[in-house]
Amino acid sequence: MKHSTQDLALFGGGPAFLEDRRVGRPNQGDRRLFLDRMNQVLDNEWLSNMGPLMHEFEARVAKLAGVRYCVSLCNATVALQMLVGDRATGGEPGDEVIVPALTFPATAHAVRWRGLRPVVCDVDPVTGLIDPDRVEALITPRTRAIIGVHLWGQACDVRRLEKIADTNGLRLYFDAAPALGCTHEDTPIGGFGDAEVFSFHATKIVNSFEGGAIVTDDDALAARMRAVRNFGFGAGGRVEEVGTNGKLNEAAAAMGLTSLDALESTVAHNRANYETYRAALAAVPGVLPLEYDARHRNTHHYMMVTVDEEAAGLHRDVLLDVLRAENIVAQPYFPEAMHQLQPYADESTVPLPHAEALCEQLLALPTGPGVSADDIGIISDVVRAAVAHGPEVTARRRTETTAQ
Ligand SMILES: *Cc1c(COP(=O)(O)O)cnc(C)c1O
Repeated sequence: MKHSTQDLALFGGGPAFLEDRRVGRPNQGDRRLFLDRMNQVLDNEWLSNMGPLMHEFEARVAKLAGVRYCVSLCNATVALQMLVGDRATGGEPGDEVIVPALTFPATAHAVRWRGLRPVVCDVDPVTGLIDPDRVEALITPRTRAIIGVHLWGQACDVRRLEKIADTNGLRLYFDAAPALGCTHEDTPIGGFGDAEVFSFHATKIVNSFEGGAIVTDDDALAARMRAVRNFGFGAGGRVEEVGTNGKLNEAAAAMGLTSLDALESTVAHNRANYETYRAALAAVPGVLPLEYDARHRNTHHYMMVTVDEEAAGLHRDVLLDVLRAENIVAQPYFPEAMHQLQPYADESTVPLPHAEALCEQLLALPTGPGVSADDIGIISDVVRAAVAHGPEVTARRRTETTAQ
């Protein structure tokens, strides 16, 4: 138990953990199953180019997402680039795609990489999700598409966004990188808009080392995306599209399948962790776990809290330093909104106060199968001790950083 600021590792106390408790530790699943699959890959001598494990992985992801087609890819960023560059998006250089201000940089990078202009849209002040009212206000004759992001696995307001896209003749894509296994009401994330994108990066709930997918019910789009990922070769073996190399290799598929096998148990563990955190942090002023809309299912892969500086008596970044000194490797997701990133500083003409405020407050705490209820008790004790002495911790950190 930490009682005074003296007990905090930041000020010389012993750290709460000898081994890091981290955000985004990989969900590797059962090692024996993975190695069995790797033996299969080597026995097959089929290492890439649409192998049997890739097909098995695609079928399982499509089923989970409730869609007809899954086009697996080397990562989600390439998936987004392929959708933005698809002929159905249309788009001349300088045409616009509306993206939320609060997301991972890849969402806007994919737009800019294809020569279109990301137009940054503010978000809901509570959920952090793209705000449909503001989307409508940003539509111009040059708008070609909207990309919604299901942040922390929360479903966007998919119905309203679909209506806005329909009314204005726009393509609608979802960056569902953080939302595999989540739902909108009883419908799995995956089938909304024209297509959705998953990431299987090492830090995501299901990982394939690196990987991604486009999921859709549109058969023509799926066929084009299959061609594009393989240098533009169509089903007949002729080059039909301007292509890239976006293929998911067999070692990646082997890990993806193994990680997918562990999904349900991971979700159960995460859900219990979320409830443990909520109970443990309930009496800590200003440190508020994000509340999720109970109509939708969340995998709780991200344990998000907001740190309200006034109520907590310290800024998110001060708490982050306190935690890191204890070997609790929390993350400030996201420290900057899209228009605060240097390449996109000119891409917004309107103020984006909600995203900016959330970027000062959001903190991801460690969770996942590697974090136990006991760990959460210790992490929450550290948070409680820091908040109990908020102004003193802030002042000491300031003097000690200046002294260095
Ligand atoms: C992780 C993530 C990405 C990038 O995925 P990669 O597979 O690493 O390219 C894109 N968008 C969001 C919202 C993400 O969380």
